[in-house]
Amino acid sequence: MVSPTFVARFDSDPSAPARCASTPARLTNPPSHSGMRLDETDPVMQPPRMSIPSLPEMMRQLIATPSVSSVSPQWDQSNQGVIEVLSGWCRDAGFAVEILDVPDCPGKYNLIASAGSGPEGLVLSGHTDTVPYDEGKWNTDPFRLKEVDQRWYGLGTADMKGFFAIVLEAIRDFDLSSLNQPLVLLATADEESSMCGARSLMDIQQKLGRHALIGEPTGLKPIRMHKGIAMEAIRVSGTSGHSSNPDLGNNALEGMHRLMTELLRWREELQSQHRNPLFEVEVPTVNLGHIHGGDNPNRICGHCELHIDIRPLPGMSLEHLREDMDRRLGASLAGSGLKLERVSLFEGLPAMETDRDALIVKTVEQLTNSPAGAVAFGTEAPFLNAMGMDTVILGPGSIDQAHQPDEYLAMDQLEPAMRIIRDLVNRFCLT
Ligand SMILES: [Zn+2]
Repeated sequence: MVSPTFVARFDSDPSAPARCASTPARLTNPPSHSGMRLDETDPVMQPPRMSIPSLPEMMRQLIATPSVSSVSPQWDQSNQGVIEVLSGWCRDAGFAVEILDVPDCPGKYNLIASAGSGPEGLVLSGHTDTVPYDEGKWNTDPFRLKEVDQRWYGLGTADMKGFFAIVLEAIRDFDLSSLNQPLVLLATADEESSMCGARSLMDIQQKLGRHALIGEPTGLKPIRMHKGIAMEAIRVSGTSGHSSNPDLGNNALEGMHRLMTELLRWREELQSQHRNPLFEVEVPTVNLGHIHGGDNPNRICGHCELHIDIRPLPGMSLEHLREDMDRRLGASLAGSGLKLERVSLFEGLPAMETDRDALIVKTVEQLTNSPAGAVAFGTEAPFLNAMGMDTVILGPGSIDQAHQPDEYLAMDQLEPAMRIIRDLVNRFCLT
């Protein structure tokens, strides 16, 4: 079943009472990708357009609706509540709304709200999930929006449920029925964990738009690059035995020592071959992060496991890096009799780079009067770029407050953020 999709008329009466979406649209189960577009809707069925709640009220409701995503099952929650709230507002704002269930991620949904049609168009994208929270370290309730000293405190205010409220407020007075190119609001699942929401969009074979902005907190600075991330487990298996006679076993820890030496040599080579001055850390990194091996000083170590983190620069493919690593590590243990296994701890996130001359890059640089740069954190941008969009990352709030107790959004970022969004809609959807 498909959620009802409709086009609402623009309410030109500003004195009309604001109506809160107190009964958000229910998700049909399972929601499915309809492919239904705005122009397929029967105009006779159009209900009158309703007003969306005020910006603080939207912010309050988004923060009050938990949507933690985590690879740890005890923390992980569905994002259904946030999708329901957003879909109600988007319909009331005049968008056609599609809710897509994310394959193999039960209880997780993406939302595509679209208005207008055409080959170009602008996608404003964000993730609906938050990281888990450490309640003992918060001075406020993470699910209760609280205003103190011109800051909005709450889990997801900056990273980044708040972005959706800001977008809807920014476009409140636009007539979505008169767009020359489409405007799409994209809300994804599980960015903070598996990125299954954005990954699944690459399979829907639907062009969402030509230009995209992801509203991650960058302090309203435009970003067109970030590094990739891979996390790998390296396992060495030998034979345990009594320490008094080395011939009784084959020491996995000694094998790991060779592998670590090779990994550090590999890192040195990578860092001498790749450099990008736009990044604060200009070179790719390889971090040895966790190791466990053996059980007793008087036993030959039979098994050792190392976890490493790799952060490649744009232009370095994860696949090639893994092949290169496998070849080197395999060669290091050749003839040792030790067994080597390398397993990716997650699929990995490719590095991202949008062309410096892309129209969206040039436009946000002009609007913000700052050159597009690079950040150290990963986003869904590589997936949007792979879908044929030129993507920039720019949003209100600071990444310093993201993933921290007492996360907040500085309210002086609200108006500038809305101005940028309105300018982008004007340039990409109305001209
Ligand atoms: Zn985020």
